[in-house]
Amino acid sequence: MISLHYPKHFQAVRQLSFCYLCGNEFLPDEKIDRDHVPPKTVFAKVHRVPLILKTHAACNEAHSPTDEKMGQLIGLSRGAIPTDPKNSRLQIQHLGFRTAAITNIDVHGAIWRWVRGFHAALYREPLPEICQRAIELPFQRARRDTLGFSVVPLREAQHVAFVRAIKTNRAKQNVDRIRCNADKLTYECVWAQNEGNREWGCIFALDVYDWKDLGDPKLGQRGCAGVYSLPDGHVPPNAARLMKSSILVPNTEPLDPFGR
Ligand SMILES: [Zn+2]
Repeated sequence: MISLHYPKHFQAVRQLSFCYLCGNEFLPDEKIDRDHVPPKTVFAKVHRVPLILKTHAACNEAHSPTDEKMGQLIGLSRGAIPTDPKNSRLQIQHLGFRTAAITNIDVHGAIWRWVRGFHAALYREPLPEICQRAIELPFQRARRDTLGFSVVPLREAQHVAFVRAIKTNRAKQNVDRIRCNADKLTYECVWAQNEGNREWGCIFALDVYDWKDLGDPKLGQRGCAGVYSLPDGHVPPNAARLMKSSILVPNTEPLDPFGR
């Protein structure tokens, strides 16, 4: 089991020799950025004890508008709103009593980028942007249609299986884990082999400030979890591998990997 929790762990990760965004090694004289993963705008100032990865400046540049919006979105969970409305970057469309949709942010893309950073930090290898994956976001997704918006249904059976895998293997102390930002962020994962094609996939769960509470309770709250596999189907050599167990772990909240 790999665990990144203390400052010395994060200092080592800052010295990786590749850019986690493009996967290429740094060359002499290239302009380098230090990228907070997730961006520092997501966290209150007192919680900024971050995971930082080096990137090419050019690779990192494109993401700052999304970073700012993600900071404001997650800030809602702790009641933080920009003091000047002119600084608000979120477009909010009200859908009825106490329900609103945010219409201008690619949450899936942002979380995927962070997962690629977590993979690089844990396994010291890049995770390509294009690979098979499924992510269940911590709040409901809606798509525009002729009636306005409709909620994208949760892939419930798959999600429940991921949550159970994380909870069971956490109880066995068999998950790879990153905890940072004063423990306001927890990322956990365990690798499982597909019974059909024998390829390995990484089942992961991510919590930031109990962010599932931003989802509408009427539409079914859920935690963030998902799976990805590397293009060649390998498992990093030192990664936590799924252990099946007949021991029942508490799971009264089967949609929340960090719930009871
Ligand atoms: Zn790069």
